[in-house]
Amino acid sequence: MSMMQQPLLISSLIEHAIVTHPNAEIVSRQVEGGIFRYTYGQAAARAKQLANALTQKLGIKVGDRIGTLAWNTYRHYELYFGVSGMGAVAHTINPRLFPEQIIYIVNHAADRFIFVDLTFVPLLEAVASHISKVEGIVVLTDKAHMPTNSKLTNLICYEDLIADMSTEFTWPLLDENCDAALCYTSGTTGHPKGVMYTHRSTVLHTIASVQSNALNITNDTVILPVVPMFHVNAWGTPYAATMTGAKIVFPAHGMDGASLYELINGEQANLLLGVPTIWLGLLNYLDQIGATLTSVKNVVVGGAAAPLSMIKAFQEKHDAFLIHAWGMTELSPLGTVNSMTRAMAQMPLEQRYQKQLKQGRAVYGIEMKIVDDAGKDLPRDGKAFGRLLVRGAWVVSEYYLNDDKKSFVDGWFDTGDVATIDAENTMQIVDRSKDVIKSGGEWISSIDLENAAVGHPALKECCVIGVYHPKWDERPLLLAIRKEGATVTEAEIITFLSDKVAKWQLPDVVVFVDELPHTATGKLLKTGVRETYKNYLVEKGLV
Ligand code: AMP
Repeated sequence: MSMMQQPLLISSLIEHAIVTHPNAEIVSRQVEGGIFRYTYGQAAARAKQLANALTQKLGIKVGDRIGTLAWNTYRHYELYFGVSGMGAVAHTINPRLFPEQIIYIVNHAADRFIFVDLTFVPLLEAVASHISKVEGIVVLTDKAHMPTNSKLTNLICYEDLIADMSTEFTWPLLDENCDAALCYTSGTTGHPKGVMYTHRSTVLHTIASVQSNALNITNDTVILPVVPMFHVNAWGTPYAATMTGAKIVFPAHGMDGASLYELINGEQANLLLGVPTIWLGLLNYLDQIGATLTSVKNVVVGGAAAPLSMIKAFQEKHDAFLIHAWGMTELSPLGTVNSMTRAMAQMPLEQRYQKQLKQGRAVYGIEMKIVDDAGKDLPRDGKAFGRLLVRGAWVVSEYYLNDDKKSFVDGWFDTGDVATIDAENTMQIVDRSKDVIKSGGEWISSIDLENAAVGHPALKECCVIGVYHPKWDERPLLLAIRKEGATVTEAEIITFLSDKVAKWQLPDVVVFVDELPHTATGKLLKTGVRETYKNYLVEKGLV
């Protein structure tokens, strides 16, 4: 062994920031109101105060789990580095989960303390009697804003906790395979499953994600992650920004169009990241007030497929390039990124948009393949589609303290997605394997239909499910929410779709609804809807 064995630790990211870009900025909307700003150097000092407090006041040891229930803020950022840096595990809890799921994961993870934003104190009050092993609740605020008549008896003020602690702390030289951060996936059935990221997997993921073929994060970037820090670590952006010295802008609870626009403009953000629903909100708001974005170069969209209408709106109204990315909690999350290639830059716009609809090429470090139901490899021709399997140094190899091994096949992880891969390793999601509609032996992508339908100017949101049909097994049913005041009819929707998908793929019926259910991470929750509508065609005499 002729080269040094330097462990890849999360603390190395913040130490790099201290010496390389101590004066780069971190800006954060505050839950208490107003906007806070400081530097990486100051953030690192406070992360060290926190590490001292965890060790000296709370008795936290290497490997202990610390829960967080918090928005994207500077204090949450300090937790990312203070907790993982000292060797404990930052367990980010998604506040949008059902209370029973929160109870389950806090107990499953055996969190010793929970650090909570003021917003989520009532949520903890409601579940407190079921998480009695938690030793204390640290409220992420100062003394002046501490809740005064909370039912919780074990509240600690964050600012008080760290105030008298030293800003010096020597990060322990841990094994790089130590546990560092924990995130639970919210499946549609069963209990959430934990994915435990290690220091090594996190640092390797960070190195991969900042590259120009990936998210292209440099010290010139002003990055605004709207994707929450409680959902796969805001796609790793707090680590990536720390590695590169990008200015990071945290939106806290302000995820509506007006609040985002204020931050984007005020801070001159040039890289935005989030799920499609967020961008729909922002684009609608900008249309309403007749404003355009001037600072934004790239908008990274993941978590669900970006519709063509969104790709066009960003390009044509705001001169911003939409980068489609795909990933999942189990992949830390980055798998593929559809960054601009030389060929794409030279294409006519309409042709380029079609390319942008794909989820992109695998980043270095992720291998992908597609297989049929028997596990046989399928061709990389951009046409054949099958189950998408992946492997790589930041892909989960088992769920945290969980015996469920069915997603792990011969060293590969079965993503549960159905996809095509072309000769240049560009992947396109066809559907979730359980959502694809099996009609007369052919498969219909519910996502393709949803995206085509939501392009109709009178529709706000669409959901397509397969429902029972006596001859074809399943046929597509489209549930649609009209925009306020719109009166579009079923026949008009079908006509609109008829030049966008093959005739046999057209929905058999369109049902207008007022709302659609979503999972805690904002994805359509199709299980309940499928149950409600499974016999719709028969019951309504449509077959
Ligand atoms: P999560 O673990 O909650 O982030 O969910 C991961 C799942 O979201 C993936 O397995 C996909 O089904 C879906 N997903 C993520 N990114 C995309 C994308 N760009 N297009 C379509 N689906 C996506």
